[in-house]
Amino acid sequence: MKNVLKGILVLVAALTAILLFNAYNLGDVRPLGDPAKLMNINIQKAVDRLAGGIKIPTISQTNTNKIDYTHFVNFNRYLRREFPKVFRTLEPYTINKHSLILKWGGTQPLKKPILLMAHMDVVPIDDQSLDQWTFPPFSGTADEEIIWGRGTMDCKGNLFAIMESVDQLIANGYQPVQTIYIAFGHDEEIGGNEGAKKSAEFFRKNNIEFDFILDEGGGITSGKSFGLEKPIAFVAVSEKGYMTLELVAKGTGGHSSMPKKETTIGILAKAITKLQDNPLPARLGGPIKHMFKVIGAEMDLLPRIIMANQWLFEGLLERIFTSSPAGNAVIRTTTAPTIISAGIKDNVIPAQAKAMVNFRIIPGDTPENIVDMVREIIDDPRVEVNHPEGQFGREPAPVSDPDAQQFKFLARNIYEVFPLAVVVPGISPGGTDTKHFLDLSPNIYRFSGIGGTDNSDLKRVHGIDERIGIKAYKKGIQFYIHLIESLGQDQKL
Ligand SMILES: [Zn+2]
Repeated sequence: MKNVLKGILVLVAALTAILLFNAYNLGDVRPLGDPAKLMNINIQKAVDRLAGGIKIPTISQTNTNKIDYTHFVNFNRYLRREFPKVFRTLEPYTINKHSLILKWGGTQPLKKPILLMAHMDVVPIDDQSLDQWTFPPFSGTADEEIIWGRGTMDCKGNLFAIMESVDQLIANGYQPVQTIYIAFGHDEEIGGNEGAKKSAEFFRKNNIEFDFILDEGGGITSGKSFGLEKPIAFVAVSEKGYMTLELVAKGTGGHSSMPKKETTIGILAKAITKLQDNPLPARLGGPIKHMFKVIGAEMDLLPRIIMANQWLFEGLLERIFTSSPAGNAVIRTTTAPTIISAGIKDNVIPAQAKAMVNFRIIPGDTPENIVDMVREIIDDPRVEVNHPEGQFGREPAPVSDPDAQQFKFLARNIYEVFPLAVVVPGISPGGTDTKHFLDLSPNIYRFSGIGGTDNSDLKRVHGIDERIGIKAYKKGIQFYIHLIESLGQDQKL
């Protein structure tokens, strides 16, 4: 008996040692380096130029017949007028009438170039919400602290910050070592098939591949949801895929006075309930594992032990993340019924009931294996699981390696401009224009250097009162300046 007890004690001690060892070993995942000395810039001029760009309503519409392209023509003219130095120094290429590529040749043209991206178009304003805006969405109003309007966050803030940084560097006589390309699409919000896709074709045709690509997505947010006082800088190293499935329950219709035990609507409802009760499996590997490690290193001992020992606490971590919609979306393919349709008259049982269910696919899943899992969960031959016509879904983007030198370079730059931030690889829940560039670089990052003014700002993207803080905008410009200046300085890697 004594020996058994001894054995247990030894085991407990060994386990504790392993847990603690792993927890302390999370150590220095943070890139070493000192905060950078940031270049001073004339922020008032930059604010005016962005505000002027917000005033041009470059709205993308799903029904492309409704798009007013004169605004895109004006937007391109506006860029040329406001940034003459940039257009004189860089080579501009107009792509498919409204998208723009700029090439800034480096002093070492044999080095692989990099690509900075943003988009010109914005989402429409819901007329019903118009009176809830503090300032009209396209007024380009700027007060002492904030620039208001549709597109400030998504994505004209980034677009103008890139232009300002290049303009400033040219004024200082700077020429990059590595060639820099800039690509601004004009239809990101409706899939990018006319803009980014055509720009990618231009690069492919000219045999241009990139050392790394930096586009919107990710960004600097509060670390509070992870229990951190420090902000978190999310660099999305992949983006989720997309698929909608159509569920069709078929049966015999008829008069509602003598219904069968189950009607088509009931059968469909059961199928949907099963899907909601059985979320698709969590995937805690890949970038998520890396993310836990980096965040864990910043935590107090107990949560740090949990984050560092995923082999033991996977179930617990899964439960914690599943408890919030945002956390849940990080770890698994999400399931969202979005449309349901059946029936035409209150006393007639429909012969068919249909629903659309939208899935955002995490790396590790594919459209095919999701269809299999959905059929298995529903487990009812009366319910067909179909792809809506011509829509077979989009795979998640390949994961860019967070251990690559290029990631470390970017992380270090972020840290040098935002010294408090914890740089963490993540997965973008939404799509970006980079989906058209997947074969043009193994290192694709989605990160915006313009932080929010407060935690409400994320909801404002595509919503009411979209805005950015002027301080955050200035920091965003300085971030691009610092990034460009750091390129080609190999000792920074
Ligand atoms: Zn966007």
